[in-house]
Amino acid sequence: MADILLLEPGYSNKYPPIGLMKISYFHKYIHHDYVRFAKGELPEAFREKKWDRVYVTTLFTFEWERTKKALEYALTVVKDPHQVYTGGILATLMPELIAKNFPTVKNNTGLLNRKGTLGLEHEECIDTMTLDYGILDDIADQYVYPAHDAYFTYMTRGCGMKCQFCAVQTLEPEYIPFISITESIRRVDKQFGPKKDLLLMDNNVLRSPHFDEIIDEIKALGFQKGATYINPKTGKTVQRFVDFNQGLDAFLLTPHKAERLGELALRPARIAFDHIEDAEQYKKAIRLCARSGITHMSNYLLYNGEDFTGKGHSYHADTPEDLYERMRISMDLCEELNAELDHRVAIFSFPMRYIPLSDLKRGFIGTNWNAKYLRALQRMLIPTQGKGVSSRSFFEADFGKTQEEFVMYLSMPEEHLGWRGHFTKRKNETESETAARKKTWDENQQYLGEWKRRFLALGDEKEEFISYIGDNNYSVERYLEIEKPELKKLFIHYFTIPTLLKALLISDEAEKRIIVEYITKEFPLMYDRMIKYVTDGKLPYSMLEGAFRTFGATFAVSVLGKIDYTQNEEPFVINNLIKAQKKARMNVYKFEYVRTFFLYKSVGALDKKTTKAIIEAIKNLDERKTRGLLAERFNKFKAKMIAQATEDEVGAAYIAEQIDRQLNDFCKQLSLFEDWE
Ligand code: SF4
Repeated sequence: MADILLLEPGYSNKYPPIGLMKISYFHKYIHHDYVRFAKGELPEAFREKKWDRVYVTTLFTFEWERTKKALEYALTVVKDPHQVYTGGILATLMPELIAKNFPTVKNNTGLLNRKGTLGLEHEECIDTMTLDYGILDDIADQYVYPAHDAYFTYMTRGCGMKCQFCAVQTLEPEYIPFISITESIRRVDKQFGPKKDLLLMDNNVLRSPHFDEIIDEIKALGFQKGATYINPKTGKTVQRFVDFNQGLDAFLLTPHKAERLGELALRPARIAFDHIEDAEQYKKAIRLCARSGITHMSNYLLYNGEDFTGKGHSYHADTPEDLYERMRISMDLCEELNAELDHRVAIFSFPMRYIPLSDLKRGFIGTNWNAKYLRALQRMLIPTQGKGVSSRSFFEADFGKTQEEFVMYLSMPEEHLGWRGHFTKRKNETESETAARKKTWDENQQYLGEWKRRFLALGDEKEEFISYIGDNNYSVERYLEIEKPELKKLFIHYFTIPTLLKALLISDEAEKRIIVEYITKEFPLMYDRMIKYVTDGKLPYSMLEGAFRTFGATFAVSVLGKIDYTQNEEPFVINNLIKAQKKARMNVYKFEYVRTFFLYKSVGALDKKTTKAIIEAIKNLDERKTRGLLAERFNKFKAKMIAQATEDEVGAAYIAEQIDRQLNDFCKQLSLFEDWE
């Protein structure tokens, strides 16, 4: 009996590793080995254990870093470095990468359906083995796959259509038109209990000449239209579903096949809509599905691509406009079908970013896209939570009412994207909280209005502007590269506030003047936001230097005007003002007085009237008046301090004497009595 470790790299994925589940079954029930499954790494309790064999599965090429980590880990826990095995998508697509980085690891490219892969008896049967659901319990505390209560299987293998961008031709080069699943499902039922859904990972089931047999078998297994399932844990009866999760080929869908699909508990029917040029085929396929009684349909919308060939066609690289158009077509189609049919249908759109098969990271940028657009689209997709886009109201609010509006949103600063939408009152919110949020929302709308106005006014310069923001580099250096003042002003909207503060250190006065004029005269809300950020935030003091140099006393007045004087604690910004003023070698105000004011306040040394007078003096940078008022209250402050410190203390007289001396020194340092001496 050998000790077998199965390892899945630590990425997030939706489906359990079915290859490892088959290998687990093979080792446990055919070879009677001890098997353990881990995601990323084993728990601490296994730290000392060494394994006879370790299997590491792989997925997408862009998960290379995590995969590499898992393979490195495998080599640290295996007894013999030649007993680490890998396989799966990445390992099959890039065997040379594995060989170069891990020369001792045995890489099995392709399926485990032949002899000579693992060097074990009966290995040719692994691909058709029952899935060992038991391994999921090993990581139940650590990771639960979003889709786990399902039979995961295939009824065909391969595809044969050879689309240029698709990995299937390498992963499963041979098309196998029919694999019966009844036996393996019965075995799962017997050993692990029945599962709710049926997930079929076939690449191109519609191509099979045995399609009718496939449908008949699925129905016989209890997945006919309207099928239900009794949850063994809760006893509740729920709907069960069939999902061909790799999609159905619109080009191969006929009225007969759609009718047969309609006999299943199919949800959703996934139809690929990889390119706008397939629009007519796509529409035809959706209509056929809907008219066959299928109520939930979805599509994969590949975007960020290049020119490619597939299914006997040549396609141009997609554009952002045509992604929008593909989503809009689905909205229109959904409304058309709901008006026509006596049952409701829903169509969910899933934009899927194209990454070339050989990319080890996610950074690929398609011919008609740029990094800015891709990031903005990611952000626009967040509210869908991976569930697809289906409602027109959401679609129009998030993606825009037209293609032009969509491209405008893609160009918008990322923060502004989150500011769109209506203001709604929240539950459990007080009136003042609502009012504060509404104020911010109103300001955000001003930002959006200003940005839109300027962006829409660009005309022929739009392309030039996009070239400045396209790589998501919103630095001061990029600002200086821009020549036209109008483009510069729009670019300021992409600055974070720390970058705006940094920009105020620009030595070229003409360059800086454009920023200053813009944020103080043309769009003063930006200056206000900057001041609020400086006043409320805990920034390094050096960030204030540019603002000091640029705005001098005005900057000090602005910050001191925003401070909350009702609190007793000294605001963080005072320390920053003291230090930043020194760094800028300026002398607009003695900010130490503000510190003293808060100190007086904290011990209750100020009455209401004096408090008000001091605050006013501070806000007006009236140093003389502030000093005078503080000096007047000095003895009271001293008395309060001594009283506080000596209360119930042994040696009170001595403590009082010490405090008195220290406070007198403090008073001298602050020059509180300067005018009186
Ligand atoms: S039809 Fe689909 S599965 Fe087949 S090669 Fe093309 S993209 Fe891949």
